[in-house]
Amino acid sequence: MSLFDLHTHNTNSKNSIIDLDINNIHMFNREAYFSLSAHPNKLLNKTELDIFRKEISSKNYTAIGEAGLDKYSKIKLTDQIDQFEKIIEISETYNKALIIHCVGKFNEIINIKKSLKPKQTWIIHGFRKKSQLANQLISENIKLSFGDYLTYDKKIQDIVQNIDLSNFFLETDDKSIDIKDIYLKCSELKENINIAKLNKIFTNSFLNNTNFNSPSK
Ligand SMILES: [Zn+2]
Repeated sequence: MSLFDLHTHNTNSKNSIIDLDINNIHMFNREAYFSLSAHPNKLLNKTELDIFRKEISSKNYTAIGEAGLDKYSKIKLTDQIDQFEKIIEISETYNKALIIHCVGKFNEIINIKKSLKPKQTWIIHGFRKKSQLANQLISENIKLSFGDYLTYDKKIQDIVQNIDLSNFFLETDDKSIDIKDIYLKCSELKENINIAKLNKIFTNSFLNNTNFNSPSK
């Protein structure tokens, strides 16, 4: 059984949303699920942004991202925000869920969401902060996704125990961990619900919250 993985950089992964960036769009194919990223560590120039938009408008990408804000990025925050807002506009125009990379700029993400009022589902991947922030994001209708650290980080385990399954996903990101190990830990934290059932819940949750599978416009 291939378990649904919300965000991975492993291009051989099955039943996973594979992160491509503008430099490896040639890897897109119909056999797998892909998201197209515009990472805050790199600013897309006009040509690259045009390619980005053309990719999203012409191919059936499952999601957009990772895109977002990062306090450690060398790119000026105002430029990061400018790029992020352009990516949000593309996500809204082409009805694609948005997978968000956020390091230390959660207030900005929340404020942007409040001001732009996007309709597409927003998912913050690799969430590793406090439960208070997790709850705040969920109350803003932002979903979370947890990676390998769920297997050992008590703080994150407590969060998973206390939030509803409809509010989060699981992911491997760039780690070599087997997604199954993350599912097994999640199962343990959620009254031993079996992983096949968990897989179904996360898959359906993604389907119900996105235009996944719908023909691209
Ligand atoms: Zn990633």
